[in-house]
Amino acid sequence: MATTANSEQAPTSASQVIGRDKDPFLAEENPFEAMMARFDHAAQLLALDPGLYRVLRQPEKQLIVSVPIQRDNGEIDVFTGYRVLHNTSRGPAKGGIRFDKHVTLDEVKALAAWMTWKCAVVNIPFGGAKGGVVCDPSTLSINELERITRRYTSALMDIFGPESDIPAPDVNTNERVMAWIMDTYSMHRRHSVTAVVTGKPVEMGGSLGRREATGRGCMIATREALKHRGLPLKGAKVAVQGFGNVGSIAALLMEQEGVKVVAVSDVSTAIYNGQGIPVADAMQWVREHRYLSGYPGAETIRPEELLTLDVDVLLPAAVENAITRKNAPHITAKVICEGANGPTTPGADKILEEKGVFVIPDILANAGGVTVSYFEWVQDRAAYFWDEPTVNQRLEQILTRSFLDVLSVAQRHGVNMRIAAYMLAIERVAAVHRLRGLYA
Ligand code: NAD
Repeated sequence: MATTANSEQAPTSASQVIGRDKDPFLAEENPFEAMMARFDHAAQLLALDPGLYRVLRQPEKQLIVSVPIQRDNGEIDVFTGYRVLHNTSRGPAKGGIRFDKHVTLDEVKALAAWMTWKCAVVNIPFGGAKGGVVCDPSTLSINELERITRRYTSALMDIFGPESDIPAPDVNTNERVMAWIMDTYSMHRRHSVTAVVTGKPVEMGGSLGRREATGRGCMIATREALKHRGLPLKGAKVAVQGFGNVGSIAALLMEQEGVKVVAVSDVSTAIYNGQGIPVADAMQWVREHRYLSGYPGAETIRPEELLTLDVDVLLPAAVENAITRKNAPHITAKVICEGANGPTTPGADKILEEKGVFVIPDILANAGGVTVSYFEWVQDRAAYFWDEPTVNQRLEQILTRSFLDVLSVAQRHGVNMRIAAYMLAIERVAAVHRLRGLYA
């Protein structure tokens, strides 16, 4: 696909155009740069056509909307909302919405691109998107949160839709928020449109198994990685950073497979017990006390210690940039399963590779969530719902196959799993672009 104006000087491979538009002031931790560093590397190895490289480096659409709402005290406040559609060549855009005071357009752009690659890695027919509203939900009442959600949805009415852009929960949004989006959208359309969002309550078109899907995917990917490394799953020791939806469910399912969960952490504390922490028990503690802090039967350790414990598997399932150049040299785990999005910086990647750590990259490791979101969308459109074993069995099939697909690219090209996942994803998206051609 040629897009250069001057054909005489037209570059012939992506490596000739990579880096020109990079902002030198962006740090290693900038999520868009972190994503693009991997994209650039994979594009170079694929000798991606420069025109396609330019197309895939830019999001298709970036929307900034004002979200005015009346506060409970009668005052009017205006929040800023974003929605970025990175690429829709393979199907409707898919991606979560986060409500957070730290949301930036750069972050939303990175997360949208990650969704493109993630959907392509597991080969489901979606493109990538992400959205966010800059707000601090801890300072908002439930009614204010509902007004923000509905006004943000109405601002994006022409973007959202089962055929065009399908939101899902992300940081600080949940089933309830998805129900409000679905309701607002349906009111405008004058009929119920369940397939406009995923991650809905099961009573109104959500899928069984969705809540556990990301953690289940982490368990499946870890099992496959250990198998590949010739290490037993039973008796393997794991440390889990983050004890929310992804971390706690992954820990629980791994424990059911005979893994010993020796350390877990959340925003309040990190705890360790060499004999194993009973996960269901710890989950019950969090349900009752909100945080892990104070959980009996385990010693408290420094949060940063958790990452460098003597374990077989490390599961970062909390925040971006947890594993950096600083702590990577001290990591002793043999396998890292990235439950969170972007937990490892590009600088850390290099160190981990040199140390021989097998990293299951986020766009593969945590793709169980979007895979079951895809199942939810399929079930809504067919208005025919599957039982939970069917959902889990199909998730198992897709994730096992995807792990082996990525592993095979890694072995063929002599690259790590992250670069292999990007190569597989970019190639799948690029193939569709080539077939579709460039319109007008
Ligand atoms: P969550 O809000 O349910 O849980 C997050 C957990 O991390 C909480 O236990 C919180 O206390 C903990 N945490 C926050 N900051 C921490 C810190 N500095 N150190 C240790 N723990 C900390 O969120 P989640 O849905 O489990 O998502 C976790 C990560 O997984 C995010 O990066 C998210 O984008 C990613 N992810 C989630 C899904 C999904 O389906 N939920 C899918 C794909 C990726």
